[in-house]
Amino acid sequence: MKTVLITGGSRGIGRECVRIFSKTGRFKVVFLYKNSENEAKELESETGARAIQCDISNEFDVSEKLNGLKIDILVNNAGIALEQKLITDVSASEWDRVFDTDLKGMFLVTKKVLPHMIHEHWGRIVNVSSVWGVYGGSCEVCYSAAKAGVVGFTKALAKELAPSNILVNCIAPGMVDTDMNKHFSNEELDLIKEEIPIGRIMKAEECAGIIFDVVTESSGYMMGQIVVVDGGFRS
Ligand code: NAP
Repeated sequence: MKTVLITGGSRGIGRECVRIFSKTGRFKVVFLYKNSENEAKELESETGARAIQCDISNEFDVSEKLNGLKIDILVNNAGIALEQKLITDVSASEWDRVFDTDLKGMFLVTKKVLPHMIHEHWGRIVNVSSVWGVYGGSCEVCYSAAKAGVVGFTKALAKELAPSNILVNCIAPGMVDTDMNKHFSNEELDLIKEEIPIGRIMKAEECAGIIFDVVTESSGYMMGQIVVVDGGFRS
């Protein structure tokens, strides 16, 4: 049975990934969370997955908490965003916080789990970027830059690891209905929906379903791809 590790599994898209992988009964599922202990414990009892508290931006934490885990499939999902603001209003510490979580955290977790995949000559990795990482978003410069980093990380890593039969891909979602967007008012959400040809915001479980497909069913010959799933929002 393959073991899957999902970062940021306590809420949003990651939580739906934990549910979808667990429901199949075909995987041992482990997920990481940082602060949402109650949600993580509830999800553990609901799904039988194992929760580990681990701040992915902290090298020591990643090294200690993931020690001994043998991961075959990695879903690099955890991430944070700043509220929308002009670049001149972004502080250096906010910039560091986003990059430490969205990009350095992805590097640290990937580096930690790779030796087992290389040893097994088999692995699947999907990294979660964003449409803003592909197209850029005004007043989202810091987040866009970090998520563009995820795109570069994916493309380079895919080339480096394909000879080891480890396939790396990326999904770049448009707007997904999670806590990350809870600050938008209903009026603002209506305006955003008008800009989406499909006419609605993506559900977290839909996004998780696409992640599941990328690392499982269709993954045999697919590597280094940035799969934009945005209902036509920016593509
Ligand atoms: P969310 O609902 O805010 O959940 C974020 C998850 O990341 C939580 O489980 C959180 O854990 C975890 N996390 C944050 N910082 C962490 C850290 N330092 N260490 C470990 N875990 C950490 O977000 P979401 O909307 O599901 O987003 C998931 C991914 O999709 C992110 O990478 C995001 O950038 C990307 N994305 C989201 C959207 C969208 O519209 N929602 C669109 C495009 C891309 P705790 O709660 O336990 O702290």
